[in-house]
Amino acid sequence: MGITSVLTSAAGRLEGKVALITGGASGIGEATAKLFTRHGARVMIADIQDDKGRALCESLGSAVASYVHCDVTDESHVRDAVDAAVSRHGKLDIMFNNAGIAGSLCMQIRESEKADFERVMGINLVGSYLGTKHAARVMIPARRGSIVMTGSVASAAPGIGSAAYTCSKPAVVGLMRSAAVELGQFGVRVNCVSPYGVATPLATTSFGIGVEEVEEFMHKHAILKGVRLKVEDVAEAVLFLGSEEARYVSGVNLLVDGGFTTTNPSHG
Ligand code: NAD
Repeated sequence: MGITSVLTSAAGRLEGKVALITGGASGIGEATAKLFTRHGARVMIADIQDDKGRALCESLGSAVASYVHCDVTDESHVRDAVDAAVSRHGKLDIMFNNAGIAGSLCMQIRESEKADFERVMGINLVGSYLGTKHAARVMIPARRGSIVMTGSVASAAPGIGSAAYTCSKPAVVGLMRSAAVELGQFGVRVNCVSPYGVATPLATTSFGIGVEEVEEFMHKHAILKGVRLKVEDVAEAVLFLGSEEARYVSGVNLLVDGGFTTTNPSHG
C-alpha cells in the first residue's frame, strides 16, 4: 500500500484487516476489539472468559467478531486460535498478545510459591511467545503482519507490582525486540504498548479497590494531571501500531503513561 492510500484510508484505518486479540473479553482487549471493529477490522477474541467473550462478540455482530476459547499458556489453544482466525477470514493481519494477569501485587519473593511466579510468567511472557510464534507461522508466507504485545509501565519502571509481574513485563519487551529483529526480514512488524495503571478488572482485583478508587490513586501518582487514563487511550495506541500508518514502526515499546516512566523512572 502506498503512502497516499495510507493517508486517504484514515477513516476506516483497519478496513479489510483481520485481528486476533488474546485477553479480548475484558479491559484493554475489549476496548481494542471495539475500536478495531469500528475501524473496519474483523476480530477474533481469544480468552478464557467464555461467556464474557461471546457476549462481546454478539454485541459487536457475528459478521465482524467471533470468539474462541484459548488459554494462552497452552500451545495447542494458541495454535488453534490462530488457525481459526485464518480459516474463518482467510488471513491474519494483526496479532494482539494482550492476555495478562498481575498476580498478587503484594506477592513477595520470600513468601510466594514457585507456582504463583510461574503462573504470571506463563500467561504474560510464555503466552506472548506462543502468540508470536503462531502468528509468525501464518504471517511469514503473507510477507506482512503486525504483532503487538501489551507490556506495562513495569517494563520501564522496575519495582512496580510483584516480582513476577516486574520480571514478566520487561521480558515481554525483550521478546518483542527479538521478534522484531527476527521477523522484519519477512515484512512482519512487532511492537509493544505499555500502559500506565488503568482501571480494569486486573487493576481493581489486584489492588482490592473499586474503579473510582483505582482511577483516583493512579491520577494522584500520575505525572500528567487533568487526564485519567482510560482503556480507550490504550486501544488507540494499539490501533496505530496495527494500522498501515505505522508501516515503518517496529521494535518500539510505546509507553502510554503520560510521561510517568520518562520523568521518574524510579517512581512507584
Ligand atoms: P483484564 O483483567 O480486564 O483483562 C485481561 C484478560 O486476559 C481477561 O479477559 C482474562 O480473562 C484474560 N486472561 C487471563 N488469563 C488468560 C489466559 N491464560 N489465557 C487467555 N486469556 C487470559 O485486564 P487488563 O488490564 O485489560 O489487562 C490486559 C493487559 O494489560 C495485561 O497484559 C496487563 O498486564 C496489561 N496492563 C494492564 C494495566 C492496568 O493497569 N490495567 C497496566 C499495564 C499493563
